Amino acid sequence: MTTDTAAGTTNWQPTACILCECNCGLEVEVAGRRLARIRGDKAHPASAGYTCEKPLRLDHYQNAPDRLTSPMRRRADGTFEAVDWDTALSEIAARLLAVRDAHGGPSIFFYGGGGQGNHLGGVYMRSLMGALGARYRSNALAQEKTGEFWVDARLYRGHTRGDFEHAEVSVFIGKNPWMSHGIPRARPMLREIARDPNRTMIVIDPRRTETAELAEHHLALRPGTDAWCLAALCAVIVQEDLMNHQFLAEHANGTDEVITALRAIPADAYAAHCGLDPSDVRTVARRIAAAGSVSIFEDLGMQQAPHSTLSSYLDKLLWLLVGSFGTPGGMGMHTDIVPLARTEHEDRDFSPVLGARIIAGLVPSNVIAEEILTEHPDRYRAMVIQSANPAHSLADTPSFRRALAALDLVVTVDVAMTETARLSHYVLPAATQFEKWECTWFNFEFPHNTFHLRAPVLEPLEGTLVEAEIYARLVDNLGTLDGVDLTPLAEAAAAGRAEFAAAVEAAIAAEPRIAAVLPIVLYRTLGPALPDGPVPAALWSIARRAAAAAPDAVRRAGHGQPGDDAAAIGEALFDAMLAGRHGITFSVDDHADVWSRVTTPDGRINLVIPELLEELAGLRTDEGLPDGFPLVLAAGERRAFTANTIIRNPDWRRRDTGGALRVHPKDAAPLGIGDGDRATLITAGGQAEVLIAHDETMPVGAIALPNGLGLDVLDADGKLHRTGVAPNELTRAEDRDPIAGTPWHKHVPARLEPFPA
Ligand code: SF4
Repeated sequence: MTTDTAAGTTNWQPTACILCECNCGLEVEVAGRRLARIRGDKAHPASAGYTCEKPLRLDHYQNAPDRLTSPMRRRADGTFEAVDWDTALSEIAARLLAVRDAHGGPSIFFYGGGGQGNHLGGVYMRSLMGALGARYRSNALAQEKTGEFWVDARLYRGHTRGDFEHAEVSVFIGKNPWMSHGIPRARPMLREIARDPNRTMIVIDPRRTETAELAEHHLALRPGTDAWCLAALCAVIVQEDLMNHQFLAEHANGTDEVITALRAIPADAYAAHCGLDPSDVRTVARRIAAAGSVSIFEDLGMQQAPHSTLSSYLDKLLWLLVGSFGTPGGMGMHTDIVPLARTEHEDRDFSPVLGARIIAGLVPSNVIAEEILTEHPDRYRAMVIQSANPAHSLADTPSFRRALAALDLVVTVDVAMTETARLSHYVLPAATQFEKWECTWFNFEFPHNTFHLRAPVLEPLEGTLVEAEIYARLVDNLGTLDGVDLTPLAEAAAAGRAEFAAAVEAAIAAEPRIAAVLPIVLYRTLGPALPDGPVPAALWSIARRAAAAAPDAVRRAGHGQPGDDAAAIGEALFDAMLAGRHGITFSVDDHADVWSRVTTPDGRINLVIPELLEELAGLRTDEGLPDGFPLVLAAGERRAFTANTIIRNPDWRRRDTGGALRVHPKDAAPLGIGDGDRATLITAGGQAEVLIAHDETMPVGAIALPNGLGLDVLDADGKLHRTGVAPNELTRAEDRDPIAGTPWHKHVPARLEPFPA
């Protein structure tokens, strides 16, 4: 709690914004059960008081009209009845065991796990997976980032991030940080770059976004042509011999093969295919090559469009060819609290029905429904969904609804009665992110990386439980640890951390069942010994693992003493996590450290990815849109007042309350569709009535719907009311990347017709 000297009050409590991966530090003032006032937290080590407009009305999340206050069980007629926790959990456990015994643990699928700054529930959920012997899971990352992860793993086995604070050249591909952030203090940083005559911002995006307005170079390419544009940029660097030969010789394998492939690229023809002036593409390539440092950020505009995995590869080749890695202002390989992705390069995990690549442990979201709606003996039979809304967020919503209906059991854990919850057999009400201990770990900064464990600012709403307790009780009901005496572990925890660490090691050796449900065991044994309750207990092993992975970086951030071993540094980090209510810097990197994180066998970067070089060679300049669909729809654009589906109350939005479809007047006028009119939007996947907003920042031929709308929310009369369009009523599951299975949400062929059609 901090003092507001101006107001003379002492009610400000530190917490965090939960609306994007930056998780800016906030301070909130609580009145009753309301988040009455919200402001940026100046003490937060990354955001330092910065916020955008989104979190200031977070009370619409905290006090959503459809919050749940009791476990709900679905009746045969589709309505729900409230049941007590013991009944719900014992019935769910019995039904999960029945599915496992009949079809095996892998037939129970897990989806979700949390969200932005909402991760501990997912950690405890993994104990339920372990208890059941479940194997398959997915979450939103499989809709966005798995193609990039696969490329990262093949190239250098790690995850990279740019040092935009110091980069001479910053490049944003399909990324509008002004709206989607992704970088701490994004807007001030973008303004700083734009003001500095020695620095250059390059935006590759079809739309003249708010970020593009600030950029020195805006390559306004045709939607879906990122791969051709990036191939042309790489080709110019190779063909004009602008490469950093010394870097490539010292650090890369396969340079000659990649150079040969890029020499064959007709750069000017590819630029023209993108609708760009070839001389602009050459100017941008030369600026990148001439820079002392380059940082590049690719995001959903590119990652949810055709050839997205190839585009990720070409993005990385762009900065590798000029050697912008491991130096200030360049790309770096950051530390993690929890690794975002596994970095094995082998393709060794595949989904059970379609054999789709499992990347970073995640089944591609777009195959889940198909892997249920089949007679295949290994199909999924049950699903547990944690803080996620796949019946809204996955492609082809109608088919996903049918898939959920075909399962023997669907259990959803969430704060509100979501679209997915309504299709579940049981819905378990969780405490909100402001009613429980939670943390942020989408932290990828370099060289200073931060972490924030935040305390609840409110007691859980009556009738709800924190996820740790829900999963602990479920594991109890399953009988996973029956006969295992946890008393020695609890006694060791009370005696001290060193004693506890030794006891955990011995307990796992004696009883392997403990390893499968370790987060719950920590919650039950270490948790009671913690100063402020048991929920952060799972962070103990996470802190130790983070310190073991990068002991020097964690030590440089002030955790531990000189000469400490990794275990002692990990314990110091855990203590700092528990104490640092405004967030902490958990690691301070040295640029030289990044090479120790390139974990290829010889410590060099593998430039050659044969599958993608083959795809590159097969790019054609006659690829077009299907007949009858002359427009490209971006289904899910981030705007000032969109935030996935976490805020369900439409009153949250101050602007664009109806979630209008943006269309260039030149596309609307021939159809007789005026600004503010309604129209019918038609795709191969479905159709919807849309509100039209003329917008000259849109390129001709492209239209955009916001993300997160189309929710069915209770209105003041207790009736369900939908605002805006649910984008996935219009998308198809088969429209996905051939390697990663990521959806093409930002490239949906479409047409508009005056309303009524
Ligand atoms: S930048 Fe992201 S985390 Fe920060 S206040 Fe805005 S939405 Fe929240």
